[in-house]
Amino acid sequence: MDILFLKPIFKERIWGGTELNKVFGYDIPFEHTGECWAISAHPHGESIVTKGPFKGYKLSEVYQTHRELFNKIKNPLFPLLTKILDANDDLSVQVHPNDLYAKKFEKDLGKTECWYILSAEENSYIIYGHQAKSKIELKNMIENNQWNELLIKKPVKTGDFIYVPAGTIHAIGKGVLILETQQSSDTTYRVYDFDRLGTDGKPRELHINPSIEVTTVPHQDYKVEKEVKKINTHTFTRFVSNNFFTVEKWEIDGLLEIPSNHYKLVSVIDGQGEINGQKIAKGDHFIITALEKRIKLEGKLELIVSWT
Ligand code: ZN
Repeated sequence: MDILFLKPIFKERIWGGTELNKVFGYDIPFEHTGECWAISAHPHGESIVTKGPFKGYKLSEVYQTHRELFNKIKNPLFPLLTKILDANDDLSVQVHPNDLYAKKFEKDLGKTECWYILSAEENSYIIYGHQAKSKIELKNMIENNQWNELLIKKPVKTGDFIYVPAGTIHAIGKGVLILETQQSSDTTYRVYDFDRLGTDGKPRELHINPSIEVTTVPHQDYKVEKEVKKINTHTFTRFVSNNFFTVEKWEIDGLLEIPSNHYKLVSVIDGQGEINGQKIAKGDHFIITALEKRIKLEGKLELIVSWT
């Protein structure tokens, strides 16, 4: 009753690959599988509970009918979405709206997101931010295809954490596997797609005007200040904590027993062990509900844990 195990959903993307199978052993349905929606109540891809009394129910249904499992939070829709993304090729350069804009124009939430870099090939990079000093300059540089001058590239390595507030121009570069925690939204404005063709042989649609409207100008860089806490043999790293989400990495080595009073989204990114007597292993995703008053974790485990 108190832990909801969830079944991932997979999305085909032109930039996707096969890492989700190689790294996590998932039975992926596409040659170019780009996204695993691991914990989702978004209508574009809904997690189903795999065991216990809610087996077969969608996460959104459990959220609507049993809000006591989620600390009776007031959000009309389940607020978070956890994904794993396999960038076998560069993703398009994009930007997401904030809540106000998304509500008005998209009937969706805004999309502030953050990335834990699960692995990155040598010399991998992301695009994070831009050099334009005004909206006019941003518009001109986009219209004149001045991508090298406009876009800021940042090197990334395994274990890095990147916070991407709505309004930040960004792209995940080739060779990067990430776990993304985001607001439950599917609204993306594509700024530039490297002049690639989609699966239908045509360029994918761009959304230049809304991109310019929602982009933060000038770019605001965000430095992640990690807070590390040790309990015996276990390490807890907090990456971010704000109105949108709190995201932590838990490295469990041995036995940990702690009280709990808030629901938590959990992704096992490495290792194996048990939670409250139930076996868990790399690639599992679940929600510890608010009704679970104690958490007993055992084994050697790396977890990404989030809540709002
Ligand atoms: Zn994004």
